[in-house]
Amino acid sequence: MAAIACPMCGLETVEFREAFKKRLSREDIQGSHGVYIPLNDVAKLSERRLANENEVNLLFYDVQNNPWEMRLHQSPQGKHFLTGGWRQFVRVKNLITEGGTVTFYALRCPGCMENTGYTIGVLKLLGKPIIV
Ligand SMILES: [Zn+2]
Repeated sequence: MAAIACPMCGLETVEFREAFKKRLSREDIQGSHGVYIPLNDVAKLSERRLANENEVNLLFYDVQNNPWEMRLHQSPQGKHFLTGGWRQFVRVKNLITEGGTVTFYALRCPGCMENTGYTIGVLKLLGKPIIV
C-alpha cells in the first residue's frame, strides 16, 4: 500500500511512523462524535497545533490506497475526536470492532520528511498490525 507519490518531491516510497494505539470503545464505533483521541495522543497525530483552530483535516489512506478525509475536531468541552470519514470507514472495514485495538500511523516521505498522510492498522493477537 501507500504507493502515493509525495506531493512535495514526487518520491514514491513512504515511511510508517507509529503514532499511538487506541482500544476502541462502543462510543468510538457507534457514537456520532467519531473516535475519541486522548489529549496525549492528539499531538502525535497532528503536528499542527489546534490552538487557534478547533479542527484540522487529515488524509488517511487504506490498504487499497483509497483516501479517506477525516477531521480532528476539538469539542466545546475540549475533547478531541477524529470524525469526518471515520464512521463510513468503520462501516466498510470489518476488522475495526468494539474492543479491538487500532494503531494509528503517520506516513512520512523519506526524501523530504514531509508528512504525506496517515493510515490505520488493526492489532491482531500474536501478529503484526494489519493495515485496513
Ligand atoms: Zn517528499
